[in-house]
Amino acid sequence: MTGNAQNLKGYLFNCGVSFEPVLISACLLGIPCRWHGYKPKKRERLIESLKKKYVLVPVCPEQLGGMPTPRTGEKLKGSGAEVLDGKLRIIAPETKQDVTRFHINGAKYTLDIAKIVGVRRAYLKSGSPSCDREGVTGEMLKRNGIKVIRVP
Ligand code: SF4
Repeated sequence: MTGNAQNLKGYLFNCGVSFEPVLISACLLGIPCRWHGYKPKKRERLIESLKKKYVLVPVCPEQLGGMPTPRTGEKLKGSGAEVLDGKLRIIAPETKQDVTRFHINGAKYTLDIAKIVGVRRAYLKSGSPSCDREGVTGEMLKRNGIKVIRVP
């Protein structure tokens, strides 16, 4: 465990909180970080059930990777594994811009956060080129031993 993760655990312990931290896609909390910029539906039942066991750490990999909101909306024409292995590029359909580096950077920074807080699992929104279990960030987390739970 890193020094930062130990510090966080110590802080949580001092606050009387001993729950395990988990990552969660920020849009599942109702935060308007999706590509279209509208406020998404807050997943109240999911949040309430996870809060009983975990400290929720929200992340939006696409924003972390440097993409604005609103932004272009991509679909993966393959898998996050192929993107990380340099076999597939992600092209924005509207602008034809290659946005692969933003998705990869977002996955790296999400992994950095995961390591700092010491998470062992992540609840990620399905259907996203980044957040899906088969997305770029989902794949990055899986490759680093973090269990990814796909949220429809
Ligand atoms: Fe939600 Fe993930 Fe897309 Fe961000 S990248 S809007 S957290 S699904």
